[in-house]
Amino acid sequence: MPKLSMPGAVIVGDAGGMVNLAALKGVHYAIKSGMLAAEAIYGALKRGESSFERYEEAVEESCIGPDLWEQRNTRQPFAKGLLLGGPVIGLMIATKGRFPGGRWSLHRNDIQPMFIGKTKDAYPRPDGKYTFDKLSSVFISGNATRDDAPNHIRVRRHVPRVIADTWRWMCPAGVYEIPEDAPEHGDVDVIVNYTNCVQCGAITAKGGRLTTPEGGDGPLYQQL
Ligand code: SF4
Repeated sequence: MPKLSMPGAVIVGDAGGMVNLAALKGVHYAIKSGMLAAEAIYGALKRGESSFERYEEAVEESCIGPDLWEQRNTRQPFAKGLLLGGPVIGLMIATKGRFPGGRWSLHRNDIQPMFIGKTKDAYPRPDGKYTFDKLSSVFISGNATRDDAPNHIRVRRHVPRVIADTWRWMCPAGVYEIPEDAPEHGDVDVIVNYTNCVQCGAITAKGGRLTTPEGGDGPLYQQL
């Protein structure tokens, strides 16, 4: 888990890594850490402090600490693949984290180079009968967002080309566009056609944040 408290703020639940990977559960940790955070903040404010370090101690001493300590290494063996990592993970779960024990290091995702594979080249062109281009699919989704609705996607616009290309290929609704005169390398200014968004949420995995659109606008899927 990262450091959970700083002057004026605390991190609770999943944002602080409070997920039991073996059980795929974390909502109860989110609720519990929220309660502990409230108590720690209330206590600190009464004492006239703005630092909430007692919250971190409270998390470690609550049911969250021992539970997650048992799971501290469960994610790492997945890097070795299912065949090699699977048995190790099984042992960890069976022994509640005692074997192989220790603390396994994690590789940093943010230092892995981005790449765009060639799978896209193998896709057949949309035939308009069984397969459709992105904008036709947005139309079929019944998306009726007003053209002047406020932007509900929080995302940087000035980004490296490889990020912009990733967003462009990833988004099923053609929200991200790269201007034709943009350079092939270096940073580019991405155009965000947010009214096309069908709120699939994919952008949240790649650096953006989806907020609730005004008035619940968005796709209106219908069963024909
Ligand atoms: S949420 Fe989905 S549809 Fe909306 S912009 Fe992100 S990737 Fe595109």
